Amino acid sequence: MSKILKLAYGMEKSEGFNYRLAMEEASRCLLCEDAPCSKGCPAGTDPAKFIRSLRFKNIKGAAETIRENNPLGGSCAWVCPYDRMCEEECSRCGIDKPIQIGKIQRYLVEEEQAMSAKFVSAGEKIGKKVALIGAGPASLACARELALAGVDTTVFEKQAKAGGVLRYGITPTRLPDRVVDFDIELIKELGVKFEFGKEVKFEDIPKLKSEYDAVFVGVGLWDSKKVDIEGSDLKGVESAIEFLFKARTGEIKELPERVVVIGGGDVAMDCATTARQLGAEKACICYRRTIEEAPANIEEISFVREMGIPIYTGFAPEKICGENGHVRTLVAKGMKDDNEMTLKADMVVFAIGQDQVEDYKSFVAGNGVFTGGDALHGVGITVVESVHEGKEAAYQILDYIR
Ligand code: SF4
Repeated sequence: MSKILKLAYGMEKSEGFNYRLAMEEASRCLLCEDAPCSKGCPAGTDPAKFIRSLRFKNIKGAAETIRENNPLGGSCAWVCPYDRMCEEECSRCGIDKPIQIGKIQRYLVEEEQAMSAKFVSAGEKIGKKVALIGAGPASLACARELALAGVDTTVFEKQAKAGGVLRYGITPTRLPDRVVDFDIELIKELGVKFEFGKEVKFEDIPKLKSEYDAVFVGVGLWDSKKVDIEGSDLKGVESAIEFLFKARTGEIKELPERVVVIGGGDVAMDCATTARQLGAEKACICYRRTIEEAPANIEEISFVREMGIPIYTGFAPEKICGENGHVRTLVAKGMKDDNEMTLKADMVVFAIGQDQVEDYKSFVAGNGVFTGGDALHGVGITVVESVHEGKEAAYQILDYIR
């Protein structure tokens, strides 16, 4: 039996490339014309260009390509589902295996930080100002692009730090704070202002609009979808977003013995690994489809398995049974047959998707108010897709205010 991986909460999951490994990997690149990998990146990070630069030992130029194109190039290097984006499109897939674009990007951003390089600078002021609500990926990308164009930008964030889901919704093992901090620091250096501890409610938008030339709404999805099954109101039933938030802010002091996580996405994987890392003796995942159908990144599924966390597939939660008002078992039913499975549980975490916060459910963009990212879709999208939407919104805002 292979050894079970033990990793304390906050420890980084894997070592990245060093110079030799990055060069070796870049040397496999076919230097494609009209490269499919670059078309596969929603944020336009242009992997073909940065890999070509690296291949010719131009590390600075390679890192510059990433930073110019992707304001969250460091964070994306850690959490992008590469296997479903640029790497899936890589021409080398037809020969042997794709270039490990994510690991190369991660190496180059580390080099950027080590050389304290400054690749972008704020544009000459154009006498316009924009307010952004929420400091998640879409807002950060939007603010960065506006700052480059000389717009005064202020980001209002109700939490104490910027990053949104990067900071509070992804385990630090998968995305270390130092990586998020570096991306955000570079945005701050462009003069983007942050007002923390400031919650802007839906009804506050008209006032904000009267004070600024435009407003961007990037509030994210901080309510959880709930399954209305028997026992879902018992003590010990949590939503994934609350659970991860409490873990990130240090609110979880101890966890009970057995934690069952419902879901098959990256968030479910994060909840299960977090539960183990924060002291649950046993954690498992219950997912209604097959593992091949699970939306989670393949690396995250492997990580869960390395930590010895079982994933029960083909079962959907039927009811939660309790004792003295507290969770005791989860009963799940087979999706294709009448099989029933009972899992002992002291805590059940639902990771089945997030929802728009109630306050913003009736929000519609228009008349100088723009949006992007999760707030626009009403369902969670990837960080790199949010970066794309934040950038696009910035270009629309520039058209509007100029
Ligand atoms: S598609 Fe693959 S082989 Fe072609 S340029 Fe991109 S990384 Fe290199």
